[in-house]
Amino acid sequence: MLNDRNRTQQSNFWELLQQRILVIDGAMGTMLQENGLQSGECPEMWNITHPEIVSKIHAAYLEAGADLILTNTFGANGVKLKKLNFQAHLKDINQEAVRLARKEINSYGEKHSVEAFVAGSLGPTGEILEPFGNLTNQEAYQGYQEQIRVLVSAGVDLIVLETFYNLDEIKIALKAVKENSNLPVFASMSFDESLKTIYGISPEKAVEELFREGADGVGANCGSGPELLYQVLSRMRAITDAPLLVEPNAGIPYLEDTKVIYPTTPQEMAEYAGKFVQLRVNIIGGCCGTTPEHIKAIAQVVKRYD
Ligand SMILES: [Zn+2]
Repeated sequence: MLNDRNRTQQSNFWELLQQRILVIDGAMGTMLQENGLQSGECPEMWNITHPEIVSKIHAAYLEAGADLILTNTFGANGVKLKKLNFQAHLKDINQEAVRLARKEINSYGEKHSVEAFVAGSLGPTGEILEPFGNLTNQEAYQGYQEQIRVLVSAGVDLIVLETFYNLDEIKIALKAVKENSNLPVFASMSFDESLKTIYGISPEKAVEELFREGADGVGANCGSGPELLYQVLSRMRAITDAPLLVEPNAGIPYLEDTKVIYPTTPQEMAEYAGKFVQLRVNIIGGCCGTTPEHIKAIAQVVKRYD
């Protein structure tokens, strides 16, 4: 399953991660909305219906200084696509996502002689697992396995599990990654003001359990903005020296007329990037509401510490 290209890319990724802090890109969903994605529409279908827009967003993040580009596959697992009646497109959606990210990385890399990596994004199923809900562990596993197999054969360099609340669910996704690939995998959960996930998982518990289950890195993303995630990451760093990742939201959004506004400015995000550097967080980027301007501001801070 692991071809030579994969192997070289992987060792390059690990080498670079040891040398310096890496910048991961910002939001895809809110950027697609800016470009016309309607609420209720499947964002991942845009890999097929609007590939030029997905490509344009990848290119903007590379220009901004991102070392890692996440594929537009956050909701492209078997369970979620089945619910939307798009299960027949699972292969195309995931394959195209990797192709679009790789194409932009290659063309940017050739022009500027820089290396960047394709990170396969995996999110929650959107269903509630048994015993509280109807989704069985087996169904969840199969839904992730289908997606991961396509991402792996399409040539992603690593996997990032993002925005999980339920420890059981992220562990199932992690197991599916470990059993279907040899790729580096980062596991990130989403915390609220209580500094726990909505399922009551603390940063310490996430670190302990996810590293034990084989994650190469653990982290926090989305949520209520950079200050809260700074507190979460401080608690994670207090108990581990292993790789950590952070992708904060650009704050808690509010409505102005009909427009959703994310309050955290690129400048504020840059200040937090400095704090995450001090904490020795290994991968720093953004989640919902962040733009290429936010990532550029983060990259300028991170690269100052090279
Ligand atoms: Zn988010």
